[in-house]
Amino acid sequence: MTPDSDASPQPAGSPRIIPRAEHPISRKQISSNALRVLYRLREEGHQAFLVGGCLRDLMLGVTPKDFDVATSARPEQVKRCFRNCRLIGRRFRLAHVFFGHEIIEVATFRAASAPLPGEETEDDPDILLEVGASEDNPESAAAEDAARERDAEGDEAESPPEEGSRERSERDPGDRLFDDGGRILRDNTYGSIEEDVWRRDFACNGLYYNIEDFSLWDYVGAVDDIKARRLRLIGDPEQRYREDPVRMLRAARFEAKLGFSLDPATEAPIAEHRDLLTEVPAARLFDETLKLFLTGHGQRSLEVLRRRGLLAVLYPGVERCLASQPGGLVEQLLVAGLENTDERVSAGKSVTPTFLFTLLLYGPIAAYIEKQPPEKWSDVGTILDACDAALREAQKRVTIPKRFSLGVRDMFALQPQLERPRSRRVLRLIEQPRFRAAYDLLLLRARVGMAPQELVDWWTALQAADPDGRMQMVLALEAARGPRSGGSGEGGEDGAPRRRRRRRRR
Ligand code: ATP
Ligand code: MG
Repeated sequence: MTPDSDASPQPAGSPRIIPRAEHPISRKQISSNALRVLYRLREEGHQAFLVGGCLRDLMLGVTPKDFDVATSARPEQVKRCFRNCRLIGRRFRLAHVFFGHEIIEVATFRAASAPLPGEETEDDPDILLEVGASEDNPESAAAEDAARERDAEGDEAESPPEEGSRERSERDPGDRLFDDGGRILRDNTYGSIEEDVWRRDFACNGLYYNIEDFSLWDYVGAVDDIKARRLRLIGDPEQRYREDPVRMLRAARFEAKLGFSLDPATEAPIAEHRDLLTEVPAARLFDETLKLFLTGHGQRSLEVLRRRGLLAVLYPGVERCLASQPGGLVEQLLVAGLENTDERVSAGKSVTPTFLFTLLLYGPIAAYIEKQPPEKWSDVGTILDACDAALREAQKRVTIPKRFSLGVRDMFALQPQLERPRSRRVLRLIEQPRFRAAYDLLLLRARVGMAPQELVDWWTALQAADPDGRMQMVLALEAARGPRSGGSGEGGEDGAPRRRRRRRRR
């Protein structure tokens, strides 16, 4: 048997090699750490290339999110090259080389039978959990945390085989052949660059930059596609979507992020095959959700996902709510919230999955609340039940880690208290860790007319005031039993602004 003779498209012949003088990518634009890794691998006699999205972005004049390296060196050889290196991943070993906050990911060329790029996260549901967790540099925090997790895993993988053979057979998914002494006779996990290129998703992500002479290697028409701003799957599109349905989401993400258009043959199978996404592990869909919505183009991602019928598969409850009230308040709130998130990302501010899920699930949660009699709409019990029902439904498709689902509940549960500030208890409320997020939600609700602006202004002023000023505001509040809503007709019997939850869905 020839190894994997019919497993995937045949490796390309020779690449189109574009010499340094004929392409715009300069070493000045490349992370100095990535260059260090490339040079070191070359010194040790290995082939070393930058690959994928970083080159696409550089060609477009966009700052790359990260720099990925592909090499002929085996993971163990990579590890020997760097002191600051860890091997990670269960099904495919990747090397992470650490430089402070920056991590350069080094992947050995994949053979036809190797696990797919991007698939490793399947075993690592926590990979992106920390996005937004750090005030200053959320993405590095995410990467660091993920690396620590994977690191532990990598070390475990390297420990002596006292765990027995089960451990090893899990990590060698049938593509290695051992002799009786356990020596590898054939290893189809790792391959050549010609094989590696066919494992990539879109031609525009299939470009290689050779550190040997700074040339670009293009096997798949990558440069032409980048210039034409075109997304075209490498190989047979239907087969590539079946092999990994997440590529439909990646297509949507690159369409939203880069403004590329889908090649007709790449676009056509999506409508028919989108349901394949229901078979993708929920943890991986959580990772993809964050990449779609928390990396600076969330509002466009929503638009593309809906247009392609993908939101209906990923978050059916959300799509149902949006579709039932086109242009309604729920949609306005979601769009305004995503725009706000995009602005924060481009300003380098932190963003949180909690806020994202609050935005996404606002419609389903409001719909559950409104199924109850109106007098119960402000009950914390009703609100929490509604949150739980909406979260449970969403979790059928996408993992929402507990710390974020708890955050969503907190944000909703605090809304009635924010809507009716009544006593000096507000002074304690604004010191609560969850207050700020709940206030942000109120702010957004006011922006689309779901809450009175005067109310938000009152809370804004309260936070800005010094202790004396705060006490004055509270005394005035107690005297009036609630801030007036400025003659907007929103005042309840007791002078406090009346809740406007009923208007949410209109
Ligand atoms: P960005 O970093 O802007 O999100 P990217 O293209 O670099 O975009 P990554 O997820 O960082 O995307 O993946 C790096 C490279 O790995 C891609 O450019 C692509 O070549 C390959 N890749 C990633 N995921 C997949 C997948 N599911 N199928 C095939 N190839 C993939
Ligand atoms: Mg990348």
